[in-house]
Amino acid sequence: MELQSILLPGVDAQRPLVIAGPCSAETEEQVMKTAVALAEKGNKIFRAGIWKPRTKPGGFEGIGVSGLPWLQEVKRETGMYVGTEVANKNHVFEAVKHRIDILWLGARTSVNPFAVQEIAEALKVSGFDGPVLVKNPVNPDLELWIGAIERLYNEGIRKIGVIHRGFSTYDKKLYRNLPSWHIPIELKRRFPNIPLICDPSHIGGKRELVAPLCQQALDLNYDGLIIESHCSPDEAWSDKEQQITPDILSYILNMLVVRETKHTTENLVQLRQQIDEIDADLLGILAKRMRISREIGQYKKEHNMPVLQTVRYDEILENRIGQAEKMGIGENFMKIMLEAIHEESIRQQIEVLSS
Ligand code: PEP
Ligand code: MN
Repeated sequence: MELQSILLPGVDAQRPLVIAGPCSAETEEQVMKTAVALAEKGNKIFRAGIWKPRTKPGGFEGIGVSGLPWLQEVKRETGMYVGTEVANKNHVFEAVKHRIDILWLGARTSVNPFAVQEIAEALKVSGFDGPVLVKNPVNPDLELWIGAIERLYNEGIRKIGVIHRGFSTYDKKLYRNLPSWHIPIELKRRFPNIPLICDPSHIGGKRELVAPLCQQALDLNYDGLIIESHCSPDEAWSDKEQQITPDILSYILNMLVVRETKHTTENLVQLRQQIDEIDADLLGILAKRMRISREIGQYKKEHNMPVLQTVRYDEILENRIGQAEKMGIGENFMKIMLEAIHEESIRQQIEVLSS
């Protein structure tokens, strides 16, 4: 893919690129107050949702077209660039008519190839020349995400970036949307030129997670951050738990450590060699575990026993998670890993059983 830079004139190329602003444009006053405060802190790109896809009816579904002139006013008053989410072709035409600089496709849009296609065509017809960002689809499907990027590309869009906003799960213990960092990292591996932007607000769903998620994204070499910021977060009409004031945002941005990514030091090479060896050991151990698992499968077959024995599995989970915690390994990670190992063991045992 031959992409062009998403950087706008006057926005410097330093990492991270920051897009900040409220989840939704609510009133002219709220938009202007937030924008002026953000601009004073040096922010260059303002975000605000005009059309809001809400999970359930009854929530605030966005102010609609009447909010677009407020974004124009933000441009006039503060000099910031402005961006919003588009979910259908009418949104595109309205946004272009109102000279919005950056557009993005939300997570509930990038799941839908028809919607993406319609938007891609509308962008082409309207001659939109600004950056178009594609949020990951709500479900953890890398191909669907890539498909959305390709649909834009095929309609001639070249200033494409992606936003990692996490993936929906039933279980919302820590994160509102599971980060599953390996998915955006794989996307970046396949398309090294695509700018990768992290949306800590929608991943975390809570104010206190914004800073650590930003840092994690920078440590993973992300190019930018899109962060929800509201002049009075507690009174926000949407996503109030995750919005932070422009002051707090500025504090967080100043605290972030931007690591040097260009050169690899000797030490790093050595450490990476160690990681390679450990991974090889891990694989060997896993393969051994699977062999034993197959032997157990053989035993179960001979004694006509069922493959899945939930009591034993519960014991394993509890015991290993306890052990892992003592060794400084997170419970959530351990659970996911054990589940994956268990699933593969069961698959192998079933293979034995049916052989
Ligand atoms: C948003 O950016 O406010 C939004 C609705 O995000 P997402 O599409 O990631 O849910
Ligand atoms: Mn939001």
